[in-house]
Amino acid sequence: MTKVLVPTVCPYCGAGCGFFIAAEKERAIGIEYMPNHPVSEGALCSKGNAALEILYHQERLTSPLKRRGDGFSRISWEEAMQLVARGLCDAIKKYGPESIALLSSSKCSNEENYLIEKLARLLGTPNVDNCARLCHAPSVVGLNRTLGAAGMTNPIPDIANSRCIFIIGSNLAENHPVLTRWIHRAKDVGAVVIVADPRVTHTSWMADVFLQLQPGTDVALLNGMAHVIIKEGLIDIEYISQWTRGFEEFRESLKDYTPEKVSEITGVAASDIVRAARSYALSPASSILYSMGITQHRTGTDNVQAISNLALICGHLGKPGTGVMPLRGQNNVQGACDMGALAEFYPGYKKADDPNTINYFSSAWGAESLPLGPGLTATEMIDAASLGEVKAIYIVGEDPANSDPCSEHARQALNRLDFLVVQDIFMTATAQLADVVLPAAAFAEKEGSFTNTERRVQWSHKAIEPPGAALSDLEIVCKVGRSLGIDLSYPDAASVLAEINRFVPQYAGITRERLGRSGLVWPCPSIDHPGTPILHSAGFKLADGRAAILPVLYRPAAEDASWEYPLILTTGRLAVHHNAGSMTRRSPSLMEREPDLYVEINTADALRLKVADGDEVTITTPRGETQAYARLTDRVKRGVVFMPFHFPGTNILTSEITDPDAKIPEFKVSACKISRRD
Ligand code: SF4
Repeated sequence: MTKVLVPTVCPYCGAGCGFFIAAEKERAIGIEYMPNHPVSEGALCSKGNAALEILYHQERLTSPLKRRGDGFSRISWEEAMQLVARGLCDAIKKYGPESIALLSSSKCSNEENYLIEKLARLLGTPNVDNCARLCHAPSVVGLNRTLGAAGMTNPIPDIANSRCIFIIGSNLAENHPVLTRWIHRAKDVGAVVIVADPRVTHTSWMADVFLQLQPGTDVALLNGMAHVIIKEGLIDIEYISQWTRGFEEFRESLKDYTPEKVSEITGVAASDIVRAARSYALSPASSILYSMGITQHRTGTDNVQAISNLALICGHLGKPGTGVMPLRGQNNVQGACDMGALAEFYPGYKKADDPNTINYFSSAWGAESLPLGPGLTATEMIDAASLGEVKAIYIVGEDPANSDPCSEHARQALNRLDFLVVQDIFMTATAQLADVVLPAAAFAEKEGSFTNTERRVQWSHKAIEPPGAALSDLEIVCKVGRSLGIDLSYPDAASVLAEINRFVPQYAGITRERLGRSGLVWPCPSIDHPGTPILHSAGFKLADGRAAILPVLYRPAAEDASWEYPLILTTGRLAVHHNAGSMTRRSPSLMEREPDLYVEINTADALRLKVADGDEVTITTPRGETQAYARLTDRVKRGVVFMPFHFPGTNILTSEITDPDAKIPEFKVSACKISRRD
């Protein structure tokens, strides 16, 4: 039998790199690179290169399971569907449809997210969300408010056209490694790189100007830069008057943000703030790249708005080399949000609290009634479960018992449910709490479209069959729907995409046939439209076609260092792991490189704590304690410690305080103390 090469999309980060799976005799035998891919050009990072390692892992779920005491027993799909239907229906009958919730996944395809969203609404619950809530919900809220579209404004390769690249709150060299090639290309022809981060990182090594700010002081820094730009007359007056509103109020709001004052708040030298501001404003084309260092704060939406403000006053939007670029964490965060797997939106960002939206989708889906939103967000579902208000949850591809802040609270809340069904490829910590576990196909075992961080929709092909009785998420969601009396009958992902074409205007022209090898970038409003790589080149989808400059004032993080908790814990990602680690911690080549949870401690702090490199230490916050190995380093400043969040221990510690607008938890700032374990 001959080898076949099947094009697929990397299952990890939002860069959306493409590669071929080499398959022979119905087995995936290796990866072959895709030199013509528009983003990765044949490159893959360590995670992408290891992607096949999970496919044949011995812990893959191969059969539906039901709880039996402390363990599980294998059951048929028929019995599983009966149990799921009974569990969800019982809750709806006894307590009403709002007593159930569905948690969708940005690991799933657009078609799968669309169906999970549709299933939730047809069941009558507004409670449907996805894990974007934990990473880029502030981008959805903040960018919609300021720019009228919740997407990266410019394509990834366009970073090479920037003459100043401002990276804030993103260690992209580890988190989206393939993107660095485009930054190096810009640097090769003279671009200036500014990096703002509380840590020295692989990304900051690329910086011409490095701003090592205190965690949680981003608004102060961004306002300080805007203050300098306005004071020195470096604004783009023509752009501001033609394309924006709110500038005068913004100018007034910045009076106190002098470089000296901002230096006191952020810990960044005033001269560096001025240098960064001038570089960003004076370059002919500047871009801002950001990630969860910006969004995972109780001021996450403020942070995003402050970024938009900076871009707008300099006119660095709508042209090559410019833009505001939220770098999404998972490979389909953008698509899951586009498909409406969010508490406050139906598909296509139609507002869930708008009766017109309800009318539109009632007619589209042939429903007598649909629930008005907003529903409960991912973290609110957990709180509601802990209060006994939500009785049953259907979780697809997510692991809140590890990925939610204050994770012990999440575990206890999930344990309180009358019924929990979890659908995944592995027995995660969350699946271990379930009444029923449904075995899902991994990325190579199914087909569908995925939307990367630059809004590029790509088709990922099926290379091999799933193991045992596992099915694609799409097939399972349709089965669940039918078991509940809801007509979800779609023969394949392409037929779901055809429905998406009809009801999601941004995807109207994105058909299975047109996607080819390079995909299409939304908005793509018609079948002959080429897609829209650069947004806002002819105005904004807001009132009068103008963007909104919205003043934001600096508010400190919810927790500060204290006598009892003298250190500030911040968290982040590593090059060889991904999110809660359910896949990468089962990948031998990646685990070999980073097998254990560690905490980075500044050498001066370690001396005071009598902690040596490699010591086992206990890290404690008001929410709990966990153990890790100490790594002594000057990559973090005195008073700040860092832990990767891919291991179960980290989120025992993190703060459940949320941004009031986007409801994202403040993962990035928690007061803690550390002691050596003797
Ligand atoms: Fe996969 Fe992201 Fe690495 Fe590309 S950069 S190979 S998408 S993890």
